[in-house]
Amino acid sequence: MADFDVPNLKDFIEIPKIQEAAMAHSQPFVASEDHQKALGFPGELTDGWENRAIDKFGDLLGKYRSLQVYMDSCVNCGACTDKCHYFLGTGDPKNMPVARQNLMRQVYRRYFTFAGKWFPWLVGAKDMTKKVLDDWYSYFHQCSQCRRCAVYCPYGIDTAEISMAAREIMDSVGQGQKYCNEIIGKVHEKSNNLGLPEKALKATLEDLEEDIEDETGLPVKLPLDVEGADILLVTPSADFVAEPHVDGLIGYAKVFHQAGVNWTLSSYASEAANFAMFIGSYEQMHDIAERIRKAAQDLGVKRIVVGECGHAWRVAYNFWNTLAGPFDFLDPNYPVPQHICEYTHILIQEGKLNFDKAANDHMTLTYHDSCNVARASRMGDKPGGQFEFPREIIKAVCNNYADMAADTIRESTFCCGGGGGLLTDDLMELRVKGAKPRMQALKQVTENNGVTHMAAICAICKSQFAKVMPLYGFERDGVVSIHQLVSNALIMDGQNTGDEEDSEDPEEAPAPEKETDKAPEISVAEGP
Ligand code: SF4
Ligand code: SF4
Repeated sequence: MADFDVPNLKDFIEIPKIQEAAMAHSQPFVASEDHQKALGFPGELTDGWENRAIDKFGDLLGKYRSLQVYMDSCVNCGACTDKCHYFLGTGDPKNMPVARQNLMRQVYRRYFTFAGKWFPWLVGAKDMTKKVLDDWYSYFHQCSQCRRCAVYCPYGIDTAEISMAAREIMDSVGQGQKYCNEIIGKVHEKSNNLGLPEKALKATLEDLEEDIEDETGLPVKLPLDVEGADILLVTPSADFVAEPHVDGLIGYAKVFHQAGVNWTLSSYASEAANFAMFIGSYEQMHDIAERIRKAAQDLGVKRIVVGECGHAWRVAYNFWNTLAGPFDFLDPNYPVPQHICEYTHILIQEGKLNFDKAANDHMTLTYHDSCNVARASRMGDKPGGQFEFPREIIKAVCNNYADMAADTIRESTFCCGGGGGLLTDDLMELRVKGAKPRMQALKQVTENNGVTHMAAICAICKSQFAKVMPLYGFERDGVVSIHQLVSNALIMDGQNTGDEEDSEDPEEAPAPEKETDKAPEISVAEGP
C-alpha cells in the first residue's frame, strides 16, 4: 500500500540523522469551499489573505496570553528537539518542536516585535507569504498536539497550542483541512463524526443487544433517548461500528447492567469527540460541547459519563465547564464529567464487580497512555488517576500485564501517530513514521515480556494502531479497548456460564457441582 519505506525497528529508540525537508511534501487535502463555508470560514484564499492572517494572529495574541508567552519565551535550549515522535520517525528537522514553533515565531517577530519590524534580517523575521503558508500547512499538520515536547521544555512551551493557533489562522483565511472540517460539519448535520443517522444508530444498538443476549442470556440494554435516565453516556461514534471500539461499548453496557443503573445514549449528542479542538476554533468547540449539555438537560439525566476517547475527555475535563457550563442541573454528588474508567474503577474498588480473569488468559497486556488523557487531563480526585485507574482495571481483569519502558509511558507517553486531526489516509506516511517510537517500545515489551496485546482508551489511538501495527509486524487485532477486557472477564448475575448446552445431555451432564469446580470467580476487592 505504501509508496514510502516503513521504518525498521531497532532495539532502542534512536535519534535519527537529519534529513532536510524529508516531509515537506506531506500535506493533508485542503477543505473544499462547501466544508469551509459550512463552518463560517472563507471558502478559499483570496486577495489580501496575508493581511487577514496577520489580523487574526493579532486577535489570538490578544485573546490567548499563553500564545504571546510562547512566542516570546523560547531560549533555544534544544531540550525539546528529540522529543517529538514525528521528528524521531522522519528525521525532518522542521519536526523538531522548536523548529515547528519557529515557523510561527518568525512571522510573529516580523509583525509584532520592534526588532522584527525594523531589522527583520537580524532576528530571523519573515513576511507572511504563500511560501510561509505552505510550510505552515505542511508542518502544523505534522503535529498531533500531543504535548510531549511541553513536558520536557523548561519553560513549558506548548507546541500543541501553537499548532492550534496556526490552524485557526489558516482556517480564517480559507486554507482549512478537509478531514477535520468535513467531520465537524457531519457533527452539526448528523450529530456524530461518522454521519450515522439516528435510525441506523438505533438499529445498530438493537443488533448489539441481540448479540449480547445470545452470548450471555441476559437482556443487557443499550438504551437510546431514555428520558429520566440517571446517566447519559457520551462516547466516540467509532464505538458504535468498528472493532475494537464496539467491544468496549459492549463492556460499558455490561458494567451498567451489572451496576443496575438506568442509563442512556442520546441521538442528539451521539458523539463525544470534538474535532474543533484540533483546529483551534473556540466557536466550533463551544457549539459541539453545547449539544451535550442540551441532551443532558432534555433527557433530564443526573450524571454524564464519557466513554473511551482521548481528546473528547480532554475537552470534557478541561473545557466543558467554560464552554457549556455550568452543569449545576446535574447531581452534585458526582463529578462532572466522569470518565467511564473512573466509573468502573469505583465499582471495582467497592467490590461490586466479579471477574473471571482467566477469560483474558490468551493475552498478555500492556497499556498505551493516550496523550490527551495522560498529559492534558486527570481522572478522579487525585494526581495520577489517569495513569493508575486504567492500569488497575486491566490488572483486575487480566492475569498477565507488563508496562512498556518508563520513558515511553505515563506523562512521557508517545503519541500513536494519528492524533490531533491527522487520522486521515492522505497523511498515511506521516502516521506510519510517527508511530515508530510507540512501535519500538511495543516491540521491546513483546520480546522481553511476551506481550501480545496493547490496550488503549482512545478511539483515535485504536483506529491508528489497527492500521499501522500490521505494517510493523504486529497483529491488526493486537490493540484492544480496556472495556473489551472488562467485558470478557465480567461475570454478570445470572449470565450463561457456557456449560448449559453440555448439561442438556444427561449422559454427559457434569457431576454435581462442588465448590472447587466453580469458575474461578475473583472478587476484585481481593484482587491484585
Ligand atoms: S505537541 Fe507532540 S506532535 Fe506537536 S511538536 Fe510537540 S511532541 Fe511533536
Ligand atoms: S525546550 Fe522550550 S525553550 Fe528549549 S528550545 Fe524547546 S521550546 Fe525552546
